[in-house]
Parts: sequence; structure tokens; C-alpha cells
Amino acid sequence: MTHTSFDGANSARLAAMGRRILDGGQITRAEGRWLFDLDGSADIGDLMAWANRLRDHFKGNKIHLCSIVNIKAGGCSENCRFCAQSALYETESPRYGLVEDDALRAAAAEAKANGVVGLGLVAAWRGLEEGPLLDELCRQFKELRADGTLRADASLGIIRNPRVAQRLAEAGVECYNHNLESSRRFFGEVCTTHTYEERVATIRHLKDAGIGICSGGIIGMGEEREDRCELAFSLREIGAQVVPINILNPIPGTPFADRPSLAPLEILKTIAGFRFILPRQEIMVAGGRVVNLRDLQPLIFLAGASALMVGNYLTTVNQSVQKDLQMLKDLGLDPSWDKHGFSDQRETYCGSQVEPAGPVTSVV
Ligand code: SF4
Repeated sequence: MTHTSFDGANSARLAAMGRRILDGGQITRAEGRWLFDLDGSADIGDLMAWANRLRDHFKGNKIHLCSIVNIKAGGCSENCRFCAQSALYETESPRYGLVEDDALRAAAAEAKANGVVGLGLVAAWRGLEEGPLLDELCRQFKELRADGTLRADASLGIIRNPRVAQRLAEAGVECYNHNLESSRRFFGEVCTTHTYEERVATIRHLKDAGIGICSGGIIGMGEEREDRCELAFSLREIGAQVVPINILNPIPGTPFADRPSLAPLEILKTIAGFRFILPRQEIMVAGGRVVNLRDLQPLIFLAGASALMVGNYLTTVNQSVQKDLQMLKDLGLDPSWDKHGFSDQRETYCGSQVEPAGPVTSVV
């Protein structure tokens, strides 16, 4: 039997970073780049062990569940190259106009039955302006949250007018999803019909209106490791509270249909790297987990994830919610998340205030 010699330098460096974060500190960009460049199952295993410890310390064993409902599907004017809903690509994705109240009520009832906290209303269009459509959506948001059991979330594209964000806040929208998608450098490879800056400006309007920020991205689109790392730092700078990590599920007909899959260990390492950079945030694994991780899905929590998108995605089918809930139970995790208003992100365990995440303009 042969043994490889053990070099403990990487292990010691990871431990030093992990302890600093537990003490309320942060890691630098250079340290983040080093984390994302780790290779080999031993180092990635060490990284995941620390990410799991950080999740456990900052988030306990509570897992935050969200679901989405597509309120308007397909026919979108934008050219996001991963997306089956763009009108520019021929895909099998369904197309329909704004859904009726009955469909929304059914989605809300299903979300409540599954113990989901946030139900996001998602629309495939460029963005939202003032007018009858906004009036109608505000009415629907008010109805959704009327009995106080669901958080009404939204993902309605680019907002150029601050008044739109204020109207959504007045209607009770607590959290708005608007992904940065990737690094600023790589964004031009993903979409050319709108800019990264428009996305950052949208987030600024939402924050000014007091709406919580759900923002993350998609990995596996052909970006470099440094782009994934840069995305995590940008999300720290914009003050995202929920950070969805999607893994590209290549859809036939889209320009990214032939992108090679990321290796599961690379995906788990990315989740762990995000936990090091965003220790208090809800790191949510969303689309693409089933097809890319297969039987390794439970490891996302041991890599630091604290939230899960359950139910079907926008254009692809997920595994059943019952299977997800069983997975959490088997891991000793509790889906009855109760940190409303993201209270655990404002205070450390000893009750002192955390430094604000920094100005949104710093990533522009
Ligand atoms: S990701 Fe959103 S904005 Fe981009 S094409 Fe798809 S639906 Fe449109």
C-alpha cells in the first residue's frame, strides 16, 4: 500500500480563514481566488467541512425554502443565452400571457402545504414600468400575502423608475430576485440586450425602496473560476440577502445548449466558496441541481448551502418536494425557517451589529 505525503499548508490556511470568519471577519479577494482555484478532493473536502461549520454557526440547522410561479412565460425580448424563454431562440418552452388569479391561488396553496416561506412571482419580460400591468400585479401581491402565511416575492426584470420599486414595496413585496448572473467581465457573453449596469441600478432602486435583495447567478455557462469568485464578492457588495446559485441546465435551442457540464466537485466547491465570502446570507441552490449533481445533492448543505428552491423551476422539472423534505430530514436539517426580515443577517450571535455590506455603486 502506498501513501502520499500530506502537506498541511492548505488545510491550515483554510482553518485560519474559517476561524477569522467565525470571529466576524471577512476574506479578501485574493483569498477568495485561492479558494476557487483549489483542486483535488482532499482540499475541497477541507473547504466543505469549514463551509459546513460556517453554515451551522451562522444559520443553525434551519433551511429556507422558496418556490416560484411563472406568471407570464416565454416570448421575452431579451437574449440571455441560457434562457429557454427568449423569443429569439426556438425552444419547447411554453408561452402564455399573465396568469389568472385561480392559478396564483393554487400555487400559493401548494407552497403553504409544502411549508415554503417565499413564493416568487416570475415574469419573462425585459422589465416593469408604471401602468395598468403594475396596478394588476400590486393587487395580486396584496392578495397573496393577505393571510400573513406567505412572503410575496417577485422577479419581474429591470426596474428603471424608482417609483415602480416603491409601488411594489407598498404592495407588500418583501424580497425581489434580480440576478447579476455572473461577473461583470463575463456578463457580455451572457446577454447583450441589456447591461450589467442596468441590473445593478435595478437593485439600487429596490434597496432604496426597502425591499430585500435576492440576487445570484448561474454557473457552468463557460465562465472562469475567477468569474464565479467575482460574482460572490459583487453580491457581498450589493448587500444581497438571498443568493441563488443556479447550475446551467443546457436547453436545446439556446446558444448555451452545448456548454459542457461542470463537475459535481467544482459545483460543491463553488457553493463552499460562496459561504466563505457570504457567511450570513441565505445561499440557495436553485435550478440545475438535479441534472448536474444527481445523487450528490445532499452534499450542497455540507458545502454551506442554507436554502433550497423547491417545486418546479421556470422551464425545467425539479424532483418532488417530498423527496427534498426527506433529504433535509435525513441530514438533520429543519425546513421551518423563521428568520423573517433576514433578522439573523443584521446581528451576530453575540448581538452586535454587522457592518453594512457596502455601497451598491461599488460594483458599477
Ligand atoms: S432570463 Fe429573463 S430577461 Fe433573460 S431572456 Fe430569460 S426571461 Fe428574458
